[in-house]
Amino acid sequence: MYMGHYAIALGARRWLRPLPMAWLLFASIEPDLHDVLGSMIPGLGIGPDTHTLPGACVAAIAIAVITALVFHRAGLALGAGLLVLSHIAADYLTSRLPLWRHGPMVGLHLYATPWADFLLEAGTIAIGLTMYASSPDLRRPVRGGVAVIAVVMLTLQAIWNFGLGGG
Ligand SMILES: [Zn+2]
Repeated sequence: MYMGHYAIALGARRWLRPLPMAWLLFASIEPDLHDVLGSMIPGLGIGPDTHTLPGACVAAIAIAVITALVFHRAGLALGAGLLVLSHIAADYLTSRLPLWRHGPMVGLHLYATPWADFLLEAGTIAIGLTMYASSPDLRRPVRGGVAVIAVVMLTLQAIWNFGLGGG
């Protein structure tokens, strides 16, 4: 999944407001960031384990523990951990990934059908941003900005799915 991950983080903010938005976004794409980290510093990489069930569970627990230590709230820690797990749950829809190291490859691989992936991600963006906008603490100008965020996210998603040249 691409833009949908960010939409999930934005939507989750409704319930996890004490956590900084940057932390929610980080948790929602932690497995991908670990891939980037591993490509830059091989010693810190864990290969395909970033996107396996055991790897994601370890990452989710680590993020939850850090959240608990910093914010002292079990609910927030659980929410941050679930955001990490949401990442590979969503990726199993859009990709084919090993369940565990050398394990069976599973997933719907919607990336192979760009319009289907776009519909899934656009729906996730719509739901996530609707939840984000319904947060009781947002002031009116921010709510207006949600439409702009939606257009930007849908545009980036369309470029991802259909390319710039269109053929
Ligand atoms: Zn991923």
